[in-house]
This record gives sequence, C-alpha cells and structure tokens, in this order.
Amino acid sequence: MSGFGEQQVLTALKAVMDPERGRDLVSLGMVSGIAIRDGNVVFSIEIAPSRAAAFESVRKAAERAVEAIPGVLSVSAVLTAARAPQPQAAAHDHAGHGHAHGAAAPRPAPRSLVPGARAIVAVASGKGGVGKSTTTTNLAVALAAQGLKVGLLDADVYGPSQPRMLGITGRPRSPDGKILEPMRNHGILCMSIGFLVPEDTATIWRGPMVMGALQQMLRDVAWGELDILLVDMPPGTGDAQLTMAQQVPLAGAIIVSTPQDIALLDARKGINMFAKVEVPVLGLIENMSYFCCPNCGHRTEIFSHGGARLEAEKLGAEFLGEIPLDIRIRETSDAGTPIVVEDPASPLSQAYMQIAARVWEKISGTAPRQAPKITIA
Ligand code: ADP
Repeated sequence: MSGFGEQQVLTALKAVMDPERGRDLVSLGMVSGIAIRDGNVVFSIEIAPSRAAAFESVRKAAERAVEAIPGVLSVSAVLTAARAPQPQAAAHDHAGHGHAHGAAAPRPAPRSLVPGARAIVAVASGKGGVGKSTTTTNLAVALAAQGLKVGLLDADVYGPSQPRMLGITGRPRSPDGKILEPMRNHGILCMSIGFLVPEDTATIWRGPMVMGALQQMLRDVAWGELDILLVDMPPGTGDAQLTMAQQVPLAGAIIVSTPQDIALLDARKGINMFAKVEVPVLGLIENMSYFCCPNCGHRTEIFSHGGARLEAEKLGAEFLGEIPLDIRIRETSDAGTPIVVEDPASPLSQAYMQIAARVWEKISGTAPRQAPKITIA
C-alpha cells in the first residue's frame, strides 16, 4: 500500500513553476493523466511543442517534487503537446511523399534514445486484431533462440499485451528512482506501460502523451546492450503511429497482416506510412494464413491465402513468411509461454524461427557490428 494519492501529487506539483509564465504547473492546468500504481507515479505535463527542449529541467524538477512524497517509489513525468498542433506529425497527405518542402521533420538526435541497441525494429499492422503482438512475442523469442540479446518494447499503449504474452507480472524496479529496470522472461527484456499503469488507464492516453511515454520507455529504461529491440507498435496508421515511426530511430519495420483483402488494404497503409518517414520496410508477414486442424493436421485455406505474398510483391516489400491460424498459438500466448518456447521443434515455431533468421539477416546486413574483413588472395 502506498498511502498517498493524486491530491498529494498535485500538491507537490504546485511547488513547481513554469519559469516563463511565473505560475505553478497545477494552476496553469498543465498537469494531466496522473496514474498511480503501487507507489509508481506517471503523469503528463502539457506544453507547447516549441518549449519541449527548454522544459526538460522543469520536467525533472516535477519528478523530484513528486519523488519527495513519502511512499513514492518511482516517478515518470512525460512532456506532451496535447493542445498545440504537433510539430512533426502533421500528415500532409496519405500518398507517401518522402519529404514535404523544406519543412521535413528533423529527426531529433534519436540514436541516444537507446544507445546500447544495435537496431530498433517496429512491428506494425494497419489495424488491430491481426496478431501483431503475438507475432512480436514469438519473433522476439525466436531471435533470442539464435543467441541474440533481445529487448521488446510494448508501445501498444492503448492495449498493452506483452506482460500477458511473455508471462510477466509485477512492476519494474527503479533502484535510483529514475531509470527503470526492464522486466525479463524467456530470455527477453521487456518494458510495457502495462507494468506501470492499471490496464483501464491506458485507454485514455492521447497521441502526444503516447509519444512521450514511448520516448521515456526507450530513454529511461536500463536496456543495456541489445542486438535488437522490437517495438510492438499500436495498431493503425494514424498520427500517433506516424509520429512514433518518425521519432524512434527505426532500422526497419515489419508489417503483420491477415489474408483478408480488407486487412491487406490496411497493410498497404502501414507500408506507406513507413515509406513516408523513410523507414525501410523489412517485409510483410501473413498471420492466420491458413487453418491447421489440431486433430488431423489437415490444412484449410479459409481466407484467400497467399494474398499477402502477392500484395508484398506489388508493393515492392519482401514477403517474410506465413503463420497459420492455430489454436496452440493463441493458447500458448494466453498462458504466457509463447509457442516458440513451449514447443520449439513444432512447425509453427520453425516458421517463426525462419522469419526471425531472415529479419536478422536483413538487419545485420544493413548495420554490421564490424565491417567484414576483405581478404585478397
Ligand atoms: P494485435 O496485436 O494485432 O491486436 P494479438 O496479437 O493480440 O493481435 O492477437 C489477437 C488474438 O488472436 C489473440 O487472442 C491471439 O492469441 C490470437 N492469435 C494471433 N495470431 C494467431 C494465430 N496465428 N493463430 C491463432 N490465434 C492467433
């Protein structure tokens, strides 16, 4: 039991001034979204985007003020630009222009967000429910099975499912009250907003706030050295997703899609979104591709299977592979032990392994740790 509440947090924040306007953050109505869970406090401070850099010291002061409340274990203050127009996410069109005039968004010194990660790869989908999170979990485990150091950032702040899929409960430790230690299971390091706030609060998060939380989960988490950090993106291709794709230093993106035509049209939007921010699309995965009868092993093509392969070809993206609709995938995910861990030898797991191997081949090929030695015989 933590013994303090929102009121104490607000009282503490009343002592923190906006230096430009000479009044405190609470009176100015800048504090919102306070969420408290087991002594961990998250809240947002809304400011004009142009002030973001200058406001960093105020953000820190706000965190310190709340940290001083007895019982507080950790504090995350997030700068958001909820009311002002977003500086970079303004999507001019959906046609896929790379840069618009001179106003192309500068990428904000992104490499420093997770300095120890060799590559950050987004897993995205045009819409929800296509199995993006399930695929991310299994890919993460499959990459780890290849001896890689793998992190998984659950950026699906609207419906964080990685804690459940990776079978992780509890909350992250923060020995210094500032940097969170990632959680760990099945050899994967994981951070999710699901560890920090109660599930129902996640739904009230708005785009810019989501962005702030994401940046903090990248920057303020002791990820250490990673070969690859997979980001389970929120579904869809709206402004929030576009901003994320723009601001996170992505080495590439993977699009998960189901065979239904409708979903494929959505997948196309996903590909266009990454093209717009010049993030290479590593390829498309067709999930729930066909149905494998758990009793007899018979394979049924329920939807027009193979659509993703054709669509990928049309769009110039690689087709990374297909995963069948199989009850074991759902059951193992729900139980917190992904199929790749539960039954690594199964054909289902092998399908994930193959996709993971190809993804790593593409990533390591584009960003080798050491330049290959050229020997002239
Ligand atoms: P998303 O992240 O796209 O919203 P999820 O990964 O949460 O989707 O998956 C939605 C549901 O479908 C979950 O219950 C999950 O277990 C199930 N699921 C995902 N992929 C498969 C699959 N290949 N076979 C069977 N069930 C699947």
